[in-house]
Amino acid sequence: MNPLRSLILAAAGSEVVRHLVATTPGTSGVVERFVAGNTVAEAVTRVGRLVDDRLWVTLDYLGEDVTEPAQAEQTVQTYLALLDRLYAEGLAARVEVSVKLSALGLRLDERLALDNAYRVCAGAEQCGTTVTLDMEDHTTTDATLRVLGELRRTWPWVGGVLQAYLRRTEDDVRALAVPDSRVRLCKGAYAEPDEVAFSRAHEVDLSYVRCANLLLSGDGYPMFATHDPRLIAILAERARWYGRKQGSYEYQMLYGVRPDEQRRLAGEGETVRVYVPFGEHWYPYLMRRLAERPANLLFFLRALVSR
Ligand code: FAD
Repeated sequence: MNPLRSLILAAAGSEVVRHLVATTPGTSGVVERFVAGNTVAEAVTRVGRLVDDRLWVTLDYLGEDVTEPAQAEQTVQTYLALLDRLYAEGLAARVEVSVKLSALGLRLDERLALDNAYRVCAGAEQCGTTVTLDMEDHTTTDATLRVLGELRRTWPWVGGVLQAYLRRTEDDVRALAVPDSRVRLCKGAYAEPDEVAFSRAHEVDLSYVRCANLLLSGDGYPMFATHDPRLIAILAERARWYGRKQGSYEYQMLYGVRPDEQRRLAGEGETVRVYVPFGEHWYPYLMRRLAERPANLLFFLRALVSR
């Protein structure tokens, strides 16, 4: 992994750097580009605009690694309030939610996270929408897949995420490319050791294409989460090759990243879902975005300097 990326990802876990970034004037402009506000009301307003542009959405209430059951409970309550609000605004048909199990208590107790995820999924079912479980660092992969398997026994529509940078992922894709399953394929956003993850970008891209082939030739519903123009071109060709009709798979991109491309693909009739994070705990999420792309870091530094 390139040293700058490792450094920024290491800073994502530092309380001192978090405080520094949060209190630096100019940060809020950068946060606003990637994060859709602090509250449910703000997020739902922004989402309404995306839906007006024929985009689909998955909403993520920011927060990870809770250390107290009460924090996990607060996360559940926020998701339930969010789902009610989406239903009330008539948005639930186009807007689902993404959930990090660590924010539901995974590191405290897997059973607690499963019970909390059940409550969020039951709320989503009542509102007529779906849930996708985000994937976090490799120490949580097995537990996340176990919880996903449990939830899918009741709700086969619960989506999972697989990360192309993990060496194990092709096997996981094979297990999940089954009827009704919704699988988001991404490159992977965490600092991982060489034993478990490919470190060279080219190896990750090759793994992404191998996994995409498996998903497109399988019976599930693939959700391709990437901004990479080369991969998007390959995916379009591969989808045609496997006889996939538009709507039998989707593209996903992050809020604030390549918005013109999101609209271009939607204009061509593709299903495009935007991953929209909101909430006060934006720091680790923002740092992962900065680590992904030097241009994001430059944008951040320019915003600070231009104050
Ligand atoms: P990169 O390798 O970052 O970039 C490749 C190319 O894409 C660049 O060279 C450039 O041409 C283009 N590009 C990238 N960013 C930009 C930009 N800002 N502006 C213009 N062009 C750009 N990771 C997880 O670990 N777990 C998850 O659950 C998860 N969920 C995700 C959900 C969604 C919808 C998305 C889009 C990503 C998610 N990720 C997740 C993050 C993902 O793993 C990658 O870290 C992230 O998407 C960057 O990889 P990339 O495929 O976009 O390409």
